[in-house]
Amino acid sequence: MKSSKTSFRDGLDSDLSDAEFSTLAIRGGHHRTAEGEHSEAIFPTSSFVFNNAAEAAARFGGEEDGNIYSRFTNPTVRIFEERIAALEGADRAVATSTGMAAILSLGVGLLSNGDHIVCSCSVFGSTVSLFDKYFSKMGITTTFVDPGDLEAWQQAVTKNTKLFFLETPSNPLAEIADIKAVSDVAHKNGCWLAVDNCFCTPALQQPLTLGADFVVHSATKFLDGQGRCMGGAVVGPEKEMEEVFGFLRTGGASMSPFNAWVFIKGLETLELRLMAQSERAMALANWLEQKEGIDKVFYAGLESHPQHLLAAKQQKAFGAVLAFEVKGGQQQAWNFINATRVVSITGNLGDVKTTITHPATTTHGRLSLEEREKAGINDNLIRLSVGLESLDDLKNDLARGLNTL
Ligand SMILES: *Cc1c(COP(=O)(O)O)cnc(C)c1O
Repeated sequence: MKSSKTSFRDGLDSDLSDAEFSTLAIRGGHHRTAEGEHSEAIFPTSSFVFNNAAEAAARFGGEEDGNIYSRFTNPTVRIFEERIAALEGADRAVATSTGMAAILSLGVGLLSNGDHIVCSCSVFGSTVSLFDKYFSKMGITTTFVDPGDLEAWQQAVTKNTKLFFLETPSNPLAEIADIKAVSDVAHKNGCWLAVDNCFCTPALQQPLTLGADFVVHSATKFLDGQGRCMGGAVVGPEKEMEEVFGFLRTGGASMSPFNAWVFIKGLETLELRLMAQSERAMALANWLEQKEGIDKVFYAGLESHPQHLLAAKQQKAFGAVLAFEVKGGQQQAWNFINATRVVSITGNLGDVKTTITHPATTTHGRLSLEEREKAGINDNLIRLSVGLESLDDLKNDLARGLNTL
């Protein structure tokens, strides 16, 4: 059957000019093909054909828009990019093969030899290694600062500083950085602020509306939400994103069309998942805080959290990740973890399956004892990324752990 040439409402799914978050999460970026597919199509093709040689030349020469090769652009990946840009309120997004590829592309796209980064010391471990070990080889240096100390951000600025970088809430201790206040310091010094929004996602926190210039994501976590695929994204202003895209299409850390399709599906339920997971995390944090064998619970939703009010101001809910210290040391933490029967013992987070982790011997195991102590990652600390199982089943499972203490 020949496909009809009908254009579906000019190729756009619907009029989204006034649409709110929930609508954009479900419909944003979907340009239907002439087949009229209701759901987004996967385009598993490495390259695209041209009607004639002149068209090929115009595409390659950049005089005509359109697909050439899936390392550059792909229609399924573009839906994901347009949707995540709409959800973060950005001009443009670029999709990447992993979250780390997003941070790499941002850095290489924006910075040159001699430039300097000021970075929160409470960021993802691989981000620290990327900046400290690899960017430094290219002459891009980094100073790490306490994210809550505005004076420290200012003090760290040199005449070569171009980029501020932070992550909030932090992993695993849920420290909150004030995005608005840090962006003011960045802009006063003529620098950009990039925020790793992995833990909140735009469903709970929109850094660009608080003054940030760029957002990076590990789509691997909550954007997928069901632990199936690796991916990432950078969003920001058009002019700078063109540089980020330029590096990505050349460097090659592009997102696969299949993964983009999984993430598009993930975004449809993002807000519902994050709200429901936050609700369970809040209930578990309150419940754990009352328990005998628990020394301390780290969750910004608790009134006992020192930045509870700041979190309440800049986030719509407190997120799915919490951490707690059991009475005792590493053995007691391991006993607790080993006694569980429902939750998964794994290093990942952001899944509808609840995951339990011992940071000191896994995600933060490469740090020296001194570095771990400085970061507050004690041997008795356990991280929980709360999923969507029944709250009662989760409590019963954690009670198995509590019984070992
Ligand atoms: C997982 C993670 C990353 C890296 O993402 P990958 O998809 O694993 O490359 C970056 N930042 C944060 C906060 C993360 O949790």
